[in-house]
Amino acid sequence: MIFIKNPEQIKKMQIAGRITGEALALAGEAVRDGISTAELDKIIRNHIEKCGAKPSFLGYGGFPGSACISINDEVIHGIPSKKRILHEGDIVKIDVGAFIGGYHGDSANTFPVGKVSDEALRLIEATRKSFELGVAAAEKEGARIGDIGFAIDSYVSEMGYSVVRKYVGHGVGAELHEDPSVPNYGTPGRGTRITKGMVIAIEPMVNAGVYGVKEMPDGWTVKTADGKLSAHYEHTVAITENGALLLTKVN
Ligand code: MG
Ligand code: MG
Repeated sequence: MIFIKNPEQIKKMQIAGRITGEALALAGEAVRDGISTAELDKIIRNHIEKCGAKPSFLGYGGFPGSACISINDEVIHGIPSKKRILHEGDIVKIDVGAFIGGYHGDSANTFPVGKVSDEALRLIEATRKSFELGVAAAEKEGARIGDIGFAIDSYVSEMGYSVVRKYVGHGVGAELHEDPSVPNYGTPGRGTRITKGMVIAIEPMVNAGVYGVKEMPDGWTVKTADGKLSAHYEHTVAITENGALLLTKVN
């Protein structure tokens, strides 16, 4: 069931979104050679709690961290750890959620650690660009969910990359994951019609190689099947009278 949000509810979601975006930005600024993913997680948790919110991911399905932090060929759901140290040349995906006033925010970004390869930068940039194309498709009058995935997948394929198919975007609201599912692939004109008041996480997960992924024995971490790099970019997006509003975008 899709929960349509009224303007007042979207205003509340803007608060959750802003805190989410700020926490992600702070962690992104702290990314450097030698820092552990546990330290990044702490920065995120501290900011969210300082704002009177709760980290959405902490305890979600038993997840032990406040953020998912995934390095290089790890796609999503990496568990923060003191033992996971970032090194120059790595790329790191940080995925954050904050819950306040009855609503969640959900946002992710991929950060280079120091100087990274041109291929890695190209992948990061293409992932962000595919997100923007997904948003543009979503805010078109009469658009359907399939239009978002089609826009994302078409561009990603054109760049020679693959979208992850096993994990998808989703509605966001009082629950972190609500209907509808928002795949990063799709058929134009198919799927649920996108209407004003829908709030969805658009989140391309883009692999440099094959789309396949594998789950690690820790029960959480998801890696690319071929060991190649993966990038992730996500905002919580509200569809409003004035087009798409990125609730988790700060600055
Ligand atoms: Mg997320
Ligand atoms: Mg999400």
